[in-house]
Amino acid sequence: MKDNKKPHFLNFSPLLAENYMITNGQKKFRTKQLLDWVYKKRINSFDDCSDLSAEFREKLKNDFTLYTFEIKDKKVSALDGSIRYYFSTAHGDEVITVFMPNPERNTICLSSQVGCPVKCTFCASGSVDFKRNLTRGEILEQLLQVERDTKLSTDSVLFMGMGEPLMNYENVVNAVHSLTSPEQFAYGRRKIVISTAGLVPQIEKLSQENISVKLALSLHGADDETRRKIVPSIIPYKVEDILQAGLNYGRQTKSSVTIEYVLIEGINDDLQQAEKLADLIQEYLYRTDRLKINIIPHNPTGVDRFKRPSDEKIQSFKDCFMRRDLTAIIRESKGTDIGAACGQLTI
Ligand code: SF4
Repeated sequence: MKDNKKPHFLNFSPLLAENYMITNGQKKFRTKQLLDWVYKKRINSFDDCSDLSAEFREKLKNDFTLYTFEIKDKKVSALDGSIRYYFSTAHGDEVITVFMPNPERNTICLSSQVGCPVKCTFCASGSVDFKRNLTRGEILEQLLQVERDTKLSTDSVLFMGMGEPLMNYENVVNAVHSLTSPEQFAYGRRKIVISTAGLVPQIEKLSQENISVKLALSLHGADDETRRKIVPSIIPYKVEDILQAGLNYGRQTKSSVTIEYVLIEGINDDLQQAEKLADLIQEYLYRTDRLKINIIPHNPTGVDRFKRPSDEKIQSFKDCFMRRDLTAIIRESKGTDIGAACGQLTI
């Protein structure tokens, strides 16, 4: 197990790093050098910072831990090459990250919590007891570790792994600041997606942050009764309020919004649900809003008895939206054979 006593360097914002440098007698421009080593050149150790003095490199090593995770296990999908990583943290917790390589765009799915307090009934992550929020540094370290291991760069970052990102609001928002900071990861805002099971106050707060990332609303039902079969009352908000908050977020930040709908046989796959959801969307949608419905056929998890609807049913569900000129996509998950698909992440 790695050292968990020293501060994790990845928890530091560029401003805090600069304060540290100045406090320790380093010139301001040295901060950029240090951040370049960590975030652009992806060093293994502070020993590699060749333009910093040997004495100061020693100090960095004494003051910080650069990496806190170990790769405990990794599985590669024979179907699509997705990789599921199991990391063990410096505290002995387990974190799961999924990397989905693609010739056009490599995508990573980050976890934000150890376990998940929401416990959606279709989701294996919900069966893992919630232990704690991941820190900013632990969220970012998933990306660095995966890129170091695969030697590939990541084009899109999804906060769709284990945990409800908006229940770990501060660390997730700070991680997004690092992801978009030119001094750190330098991602475009539109390359990042935060998903939420529908925490209305946090969605409203997020629209006030200067981050404007894409938002994915995990709705899974068109009315409260149906949604409640899937998303427990720890998320107490009504479907209409979640939808409105999401669309307002899209308007205020000029970001696109996706509705995620895990389709489960006999639970939420009635075509009336599709019609109802289309009615609701059209009631709140402005012509300028960019909105897409992702229909995700249920993936087996081993912790539920839910089933994927037939292909005909899935297509009919999608057609209900298309007939109304709404964009709907049937999203087949990656990594179903290694438990890396949507709803399958568990420790
Ligand atoms: S779907 Fe998301 S919010 Fe629901 S239990 Fe799984 S990880 Fe948690």
